[in-house]
Amino acid sequence: MKIITDINLKNKRVIIREDLNVPLDEEGRITSDARIRAILPTIEKILNEGAAIILLSHLGRPTEGLIQKKFSLAPVAERLGLLLKKPVRFERNYLDGVEIQPGEIVLCENVRFNIGEKTDDRELARKLAALGDVFVMDAFATAHRAEASTHAISKYMREACVGPLVESELQALSAALEKPNRPLLAIVGGSKVSTKLRVLENLLLKVDQLILGGGIANTFLAAAGFPMGKSLYETDFIETAKALMDKASKEGRVLPLPVDVVVAKAFSNEAHATVKKVDEVAADDMILDIGPLTAKRYAKIIAKAGTIVWNGPVGVFEFEAFAGGTKVMAEAIAKSSAYSVAGGGDTVAAIEKFGVESQINYISTAGGAFLEYLEGKPLPALEVLK
Ligand code: AMP
Repeated sequence: MKIITDINLKNKRVIIREDLNVPLDEEGRITSDARIRAILPTIEKILNEGAAIILLSHLGRPTEGLIQKKFSLAPVAERLGLLLKKPVRFERNYLDGVEIQPGEIVLCENVRFNIGEKTDDRELARKLAALGDVFVMDAFATAHRAEASTHAISKYMREACVGPLVESELQALSAALEKPNRPLLAIVGGSKVSTKLRVLENLLLKVDQLILGGGIANTFLAAAGFPMGKSLYETDFIETAKALMDKASKEGRVLPLPVDVVVAKAFSNEAHATVKKVDEVAADDMILDIGPLTAKRYAKIIAKAGTIVWNGPVGVFEFEAFAGGTKVMAEAIAKSSAYSVAGGGDTVAAIEKFGVESQINYISTAGGAFLEYLEGKPLPALEVLK
């Protein structure tokens, strides 16, 4: 794949697909402009090359063909202009072309208002491609979706490449999974085996150790014959869990299971938390976190890792009484000298909650695309650029 420095951008109209899907409150005010700030270096770099910039992005999940103010990118154009200290022209009607000169910046209205965006429609892609001379795919969070503005557009451009944000995301992920310092440790938590089965299967092929937590660990504990009480686990995936454990042991991968857990009688912030050994879970208990002994053992593995990939909390970290395990994980990763990559909505929330952002090497905010990368799936918006 080409990167922007491979292309002469002088006097070119450069279309950049970004992820400006910012959170808005009920009055339409931006509650976090992190995604806008993240693209400022990309814009400065491309402007400095003497190009004109046409920005494309989605916001939320509007119904195609229906223009709804709550999904408009207008507030983003205003904020972007303030942050850049440069005018950013907002274009609502752009499919028949935009007037633009080198040095100017245009942000087009939500691409998902256009009929055919989701279905990767060729005609729509052709119109988007006709807006400029070069296409830069810089929205990693949407790279797992083949849509008109992320995928088909590239087929109609003479020149296309990945942008700096995609480049750094790919560098971080490939450093962790393709050429890791060993031992390579993955920590996979969260609620269900079913939603992360492919992640677990793919990671087991690559890692030296795989630490499990959350509802996922519960299903594995059930597969190992421990009592589950009223805990969240998936009976349909017990056989799968057994097969994964067998495979791990045959191939010499370490897959430790919790030895103690934090249980409660109700799924609530106020519920009384009790630490129990895994074989002492009662019929009316719910496992809501890994226990302190398990957390200590996991922290020791983390301390010895060369590379760490983390997705998913190991307990119900949203409730104080059951946040302990995830906190120990986060702090152990922060302290370790391993190269660490973490991603996924809840994982990023946990990292922020425990204040360890600056001590993790790379934090991916690309939820779905990050997981699909961990699954080993090709990302269509990047494949098309190859
Ligand atoms: P996921 O979206 O699959 O990554 O799951 C994240 C969610 O799993 C978080 O909201 C956690 O509260 C939840 N979770 C973690 N551990 C458990 C558990 N033992 N029982 C129920 N939910 C859990």
